[in-house]
Amino acid sequence: MEQLSSNVNSHRISEPTTLGSVSLVVPVYNEEDNIEPLFLQLRAVLDDLKRPAEVVIVDDGSTDQTLPRLRKVVATDNRFCVVQFRKNYGQTAAMQAGLEYANGDVIVTLDGDLQNDPSDIPMMLSKIDEGYDLVHGWRKNRQDTLVTRKIPSKIANKIISYVTRFPIHDLGCTLKAMRREIADELELYGEMHRFIPILAHWRGAKCVEVETKHHARKFGTTKYGLARTIRVVLDLITVKYMLDYYTSPMKLFGRVGLGIMAAGMASMAGVIAMKVFGGVDMTGNPLLLLGVMFTLMSLQALSVGLLGEATTRLYYTRDSRRPFTVREVLGREPTTIPIARETLQANHLSNRLANHPAHPRSRAS
Ligand code: UDP
Ligand code: MG
Repeated sequence: MEQLSSNVNSHRISEPTTLGSVSLVVPVYNEEDNIEPLFLQLRAVLDDLKRPAEVVIVDDGSTDQTLPRLRKVVATDNRFCVVQFRKNYGQTAAMQAGLEYANGDVIVTLDGDLQNDPSDIPMMLSKIDEGYDLVHGWRKNRQDTLVTRKIPSKIANKIISYVTRFPIHDLGCTLKAMRREIADELELYGEMHRFIPILAHWRGAKCVEVETKHHARKFGTTKYGLARTIRVVLDLITVKYMLDYYTSPMKLFGRVGLGIMAAGMASMAGVIAMKVFGGVDMTGNPLLLLGVMFTLMSLQALSVGLLGEATTRLYYTRDSRRPFTVREVLGREPTTIPIARETLQANHLSNRLANHPAHPRSRAS
């Protein structure tokens, strides 16, 4: 029974009084001089947390002394573990791996270069305890260069906030805390780790932004330059598409297709009218070309829409994906029902349970 209740706690959300376990996820790439101070700061935070905690450091294919130093950390404190990539896959992949290896009920992500301040972690956890699903940081006093970092970031945040209709100041802040369930549903690729709050909000998570401290880099160098902005803009287009049309691509491509088809038909009607009433030669009329082009384009857009619909269906029937998320099932445990079948039959309940399972049965298949 005790086993069952701890299992339930780890899967249920919005229980403000439950102090669950915590995993800190830290991606590092060539951060050799930051490893020891990072270890000391994280250890101090863990010691004060008063709840089960672990640190999952993802070494993203470092080529300097980062890994040997991480080995020492793991040997010193068994709450630390290191997931070592074979090569440098990028911060997003490192974050995704960290989230998958983390076991905590709550997961906190932070940079490994000490620009985020681990002393903010208890404050963020208290927000989770208040009932939020995801807490994201805002580096209000950001300590980075003005022209190459702060100004582009401010503009990008404004554009992203406007396009996604999600009020946010600082998507680039890695310091975030989220419930396990939220992390489980994320699928990060490209530069997607920046969009975690937006993707989580899209899946129904209760999000809150908090001001966090930020420090200038003392050791090592930043891994990013201005070129990153382009990658972020491209990912923004993907995210916008996901938010609005992921489950029904035909709504986008169908509209575009029908609009272009209408323009094509208008062009063709113009060609015929000009021939009938003005005697204008059809073959020499540029509107004819326009009409043909629009018709072909509309067929293309509609076909892309249909392909999109087919891939959406494939996506949702694969594995356990569902186009909805369930926060909680009231009046029924989210685990299998621990009552003997005979008992159920005796109570004439078996038919009712088969008709109303706590989870869609097909998820397991
Ligand atoms: N990082 C990583 N893989 C990469 C690039 C960066 O794991 O390919 C890590 C890096 O070691 C740091 C965090 O991601 O812990 C943030 O990187 P950085 O400080 O260079 O970004 P900035 O703070 O300048 O935006
Ligand atoms: Mg940094």
